[in-house]
Amino acid sequence: MIKVNEIFYSIQGEGSNSGLPCVFVRLTYCNLRCTYCDTGYAFYEGREMPLEDIISEVKKYKCRLVEITGGEPLVQSESLELMKRLCDDGFDVMLETGGSLPVKDVDERVKIIMDFKCPSSGMEKKNLYENIEHLKKTDEIKFVIGNREDYEWTKQKMEEYNLPDKCEILFSVVFGELEPVELVNWILEDKLDVRFQLQLHKYIWHPETKGV
Ligand code: SF4
Repeated sequence: MIKVNEIFYSIQGEGSNSGLPCVFVRLTYCNLRCTYCDTGYAFYEGREMPLEDIISEVKKYKCRLVEITGGEPLVQSESLELMKRLCDDGFDVMLETGGSLPVKDVDERVKIIMDFKCPSSGMEKKNLYENIEHLKKTDEIKFVIGNREDYEWTKQKMEEYNLPDKCEILFSVVFGELEPVELVNWILEDKLDVRFQLQLHKYIWHPETKGV
């Protein structure tokens, strides 16, 4: 059984699959408390579901792309089995994780999007950098940047861990905290080898809309 907050069908708003229709399985619980969190409703709310029921529900949407998100999906160890079974059933599975829990046992077929936490999140000390060695070229590391201090910190981490050689690096702004144009200008000034992204769903729908 896994506690599920919501299952919904929408457009992937982030990363290299941005713009593609996707089924989202949002699992309950998170071990972090980021200052800018917009999914606090997933900390405790949800219903216990057998894996079979989750998979049946996902299949109803007839969509190959599935993202397991949260909260923090890896808080519930059964999420590993859920991802494996979805892969076995032929889905393209993505995992959105905060990077504070080990990813070494995640099925190799899963595309991991690891959201390392910058200082303004208040959760920077929770980052588990050992996770980097378990990432594949096709995975992504995301930094959500809220100010110049976050940006400088991120550049330093990219250099320290040689991140652009490991996988794709995504830069995003903390919505409402940093203007996208500022971050884009910094990236261009420094000629960084990263992909800038906007959270598409926050522009398509009202930023506080749930289930998109
Ligand atoms: S990791 Fe995600 S869900 Fe958890 S507190 Fe941070 S932003 Fe919210």
